[in-house]
Amino acid sequence: MIELNKLVRENVIRLKPYSSARDEFSGKTGIFMDANENPYGKLNRYPDPYQKELKAAVSRLKGISEDKIFLGNGSDEIIDLCFRVFCNPGSDKILTFSPTYGMYEVSAAINDIEVISIPLNESFQIDLQKVRPYLSEKNLKLIFICSPNNPTSNSMNHSDVEYIISSFRGIVIIDEAYIDFSEKPSFIDLVNKYPNLILMQTFSKAYGLAAARVGMAFTAPSIIKYFNKMKPPYNISSINQKTVLDKLGKIKEYKDQVTKIRKERERLAANLKKMDITEKVFPSDANFLLVKVKNATFIYKELINNNIIVRNRTNVIDNCIRITVGKKTENNKLLNALKTISI
Ligand SMILES: *Cc1c(COP(=O)(O)O)cnc(C)c1O
Repeated sequence: MIELNKLVRENVIRLKPYSSARDEFSGKTGIFMDANENPYGKLNRYPDPYQKELKAAVSRLKGISEDKIFLGNGSDEIIDLCFRVFCNPGSDKILTFSPTYGMYEVSAAINDIEVISIPLNESFQIDLQKVRPYLSEKNLKLIFICSPNNPTSNSMNHSDVEYIISSFRGIVIIDEAYIDFSEKPSFIDLVNKYPNLILMQTFSKAYGLAAARVGMAFTAPSIIKYFNKMKPPYNISSINQKTVLDKLGKIKEYKDQVTKIRKERERLAANLKKMDITEKVFPSDANFLLVKVKNATFIYKELINNNIIVRNRTNVIDNCIRITVGKKTENNKLLNALKTISI
């Protein structure tokens, strides 16, 4: 069992949150003279601070109760909230598995938190032998697991992840930004089993709403209580709440796009494998491919000359580029451009 009172920062436990007009009266009808809004216009009213309508829709979509859902201004806000709720600047630590998403380290640096970075093994899986000694590390508050992982594109083994959650006394954050593209099941069911798990998903990738900035966290209500205390009261705009709600009303469009992207991913991978410049195409559970090539920096620059922008990851994984799966026509242009490159 975890002791939340010992994990949460003392000042956060003591914090008396801002009480907004919509906290004090949350009814929908009436003459509103409590929030100093302009009575005219369409976007004149402050949004619902707890996004109840949207959470009800997310609850139906994910089969998880509303009191276990938190919505953030992108997953990035949720990552930052995890730091600010649990980590004392200058003394606490987090653990990540490298290479992984860069925001964990940036958020750690912003909050003056030390990062213990454990390399994934050669199959990009977690090496439990290496993690074990750290599970009882003093001041280690958070463990971040990205699955499917960015930029390696694979999913972490279920048993390794569950071992970590069940043996760690701190908080485990699973980042499932790419789960919709994976054939492997989500870890979401573990939220009901482990009170120290925060599972994140996002509308930025498969739902095609990166511009709307809406991320989801699924976790125990006792943790959500702290997120709500810390977040800016109106963290998701009415426009963005409505945009996501509308998208959830068109779930077939989402499904068709995910199917198309997965199919294109496999076609792109098969074609890349045939090329001379390719050393390896790593198996992907995401909407991108990690590709080891003969000279990543050269290929990256040549593609830019062709007006095609991929991510050069050679500084993270030797001679690797990360390619986001595009539309069929875009993928063909990439393949044709690569064919003209000789090393
Ligand atoms: C893209 C991505 C996100 C999404 O972040 P948002 O702030 O929700 O747009 C989260 N985690 C990982 C690993 C990602 O690659």
